[in-house]
Amino acid sequence: MKVSPHVIRIGGIFGTGVWGANVYLLIDDKLTLVDTGFRGRANQILRKVKQLGFSPSDINRIIITHHHADHIGSLAILKEITKATVLAHPADAPYIDGRLPQPGPARPSSLGKTLYRLGRFFPVTPSTVDQAVNEGDVLPVLGGLQVLHTPGHTPGSICIFSPEERVLIAGDLLANRFRLGLPSRTFTVNIEQEINSIKRLANLDFDIICFGHGAPITHGAGRAINGLIQKLENTI
Ligand SMILES: [Zn+2]
Ligand SMILES: [Zn+2]
Repeated sequence: MKVSPHVIRIGGIFGTGVWGANVYLLIDDKLTLVDTGFRGRANQILRKVKQLGFSPSDINRIIITHHHADHIGSLAILKEITKATVLAHPADAPYIDGRLPQPGPARPSSLGKTLYRLGRFFPVTPSTVDQAVNEGDVLPVLGGLQVLHTPGHTPGSICIFSPEERVLIAGDLLANRFRLGLPSRTFTVNIEQEINSIKRLANLDFDIICFGHGAPITHGAGRAINGLIQKLENTI
């Protein structure tokens, strides 16, 4: 699914994005992949790349929005096949390269425990992070791709903003599973920090927002996010 002229969404398993995170492909002279889904998604992703007329080696960057298994599960195999450079925030890098184990749920709940147990069926192969990205970095993709450090869900969560496409890729900063809202609280390490990170989006000029989970908002996304920020203000 095309979300803007140069941004393609590859939906989660069953096409819903509910089971396993969405993956995004940014099309420039080379390809940039944002997240990789659970382990086992590499073939689906590479099939899409070929359908678009590219070859796997055209992927020269893989940006990871955060370290959760549903975003980095297919990273190791995709890095091996494509030889792409892997980019992530330094605060999440130790969980991606295996220096630290994947943490369990941030707060105990039966859902969290079940998901954590399920998580063992989706083990993560550690992968080197080649390039640390930080707040304010601009990557040479789509005329300048901005990195926002938006901690809360994980310490090193990032959003990717393309002013040229007016697209924000939010990772799990927000989710749009059934309606627009916060991501899974069970897996969010610091809700207060998360809400502060969401509030930063109020100053950003975008039309389209893409989520790790759920369908993108392709019209008036800035307005929708500002509405949500208002609601969060009122509930605090
Ligand atoms: Zn996720
Ligand atoms: Zn997550």
